[in-house]
Amino acid sequence: MASAIAHEASCIFCKIIKGDIPSFKLLETAHSYSFLDIQPTAKGHLLIIPKYHGAKLHNLPDEYLADLLPVAKRLAIALNLNIDSPQGDGYNILQNNGRIAHQVVDHVHVHLIPKRDEETGLIVGWPSVDADMTELGEFAKELQAKLN
Ligand code: 5GP
Ligand code: ZN
Repeated sequence: MASAIAHEASCIFCKIIKGDIPSFKLLETAHSYSFLDIQPTAKGHLLIIPKYHGAKLHNLPDEYLADLLPVAKRLAIALNLNIDSPQGDGYNILQNNGRIAHQVVDHVHVHLIPKRDEETGLIVGWPSVDADMTELGEFAKELQAKLN
């Protein structure tokens, strides 16, 4: 397989792609590389990374972005997490951008984290409020204007 097309010499994930740092490699495609996380929160916690150095999601060319989720899907199936019921084992897909958002390694990575019980895996909590529908509508219009 081709090595990283654009890599950063000091980046640990670029080094993993090149084989300069060992990893428990899982699936590799032309655009992505996946391997087990060395500090797993659950058995099978793994990372999928683009073979392109970009710190955050918006730094990636679309073809690299487009490959990440199909790889995640294949890995979820390999982990027997493809359960077609709301009950039973589940999984979370997590991708952090920036220190305040819990990103530690500045090379885009998608976590696939099995969720089999309350104690292991991702524990999610965020503050929420009931939105003011008028304000919400105005904000949507503001964004739509930027997107069109
Ligand atoms: P972040 O908080 O940046 O989203 O997550 C970074 C993840 O990378 C962590 O879960 C951490 O355990 C994992 N990690 C950091 N360094 C290495 C490494 O050298 N090898 C592997 N396999 N995982 C790593
Ligand atoms: Zn990198």
